[in-house]
Amino acid sequence: MNIQSLSVCVPAKRCINDCKFCCSKMHDSDYEDNFTEICQYASYAADMRKRLEYARENGCNTCMLTGQNEPQQNREFLRVFAEVNKSLRAPFLNIEMQTSGAFIDAPFLDFFRESVGVTTVAISVACLDDDAANREMIQTRDEALCLETLCREIKRRNMNLRICLNMNDGILARHPFTPESVVGLCGALGADQITFRALWAPDAATEQGQWISRHVTEKTTGFISALKEDIRAKGRYLDTLEYGSDRYDYHGFSVVVDEDSMAQEARKSAVKYLILRPNGHLYSKWDSKASLIF
Ligand code: SF4
Repeated sequence: MNIQSLSVCVPAKRCINDCKFCCSKMHDSDYEDNFTEICQYASYAADMRKRLEYARENGCNTCMLTGQNEPQQNREFLRVFAEVNKSLRAPFLNIEMQTSGAFIDAPFLDFFRESVGVTTVAISVACLDDDAANREMIQTRDEALCLETLCREIKRRNMNLRICLNMNDGILARHPFTPESVVGLCGALGADQITFRALWAPDAATEQGQWISRHVTEKTTGFISALKEDIRAKGRYLDTLEYGSDRYDYHGFSVVVDEDSMAQEARKSAVKYLILRPNGHLYSKWDSKASLIF
């Protein structure tokens, strides 16, 4: 089994943001939060240990802290995760955290780095060059969320910075909608890696699906096509990730165009993700309880 990464869903009652394109809200989430219910008992940590060990023994090197909310919302869970990881025969060394950055300040970043072992912070961005527009699209209560400040603090701690662009017509508010603009702005923020994420709407009838259909028009799809052509022409192929996406050196950045963020097109035997749900069980698909592994 080829496993690109293990996603650990950090439990929380509801997300502190309300992104207009949130894929988590487009399908049911009926996984119980057994951490909150039974975390006093060593059994949850023991079960988590088995799942992390299983992922490691199947060749998975990367652990992504994510979920249907923001991982920074549950510090106690992160602390338990860190303890369990350190107890593995071969702990995850590459630990990534996916976040919009809401309410993450310098002490929080210190906690992620020093206590949890986070090595890469992947900032999810809806508008790259206008903080107010970004905050408006992710509907955050963090009125101080500023990409420049956040990225600077991440780089000051020598952590890897990945900028994950949720591609929509408003990804750039003040600059020409060109690959050069996007790459230049990501470079100015200190990015090491850039992911262009095609927004995915499994159910066009949902509020989020309707937002995507209004805001991901030919302007965005045309940009992605032009970008792919430019990457092929000017980039240098680095490698192919297990699920099939090619990674390129493009103007000095590691660049991936992820048009399959939900692993719908996972190749025959390839498994793109393992997902550890808040109930403590392991799955292979974001949108199917039937994908339970154990
Ligand atoms: S931060 Fe993530 S989980 Fe929360 S609303 Fe936005 S996309 Fe959804």
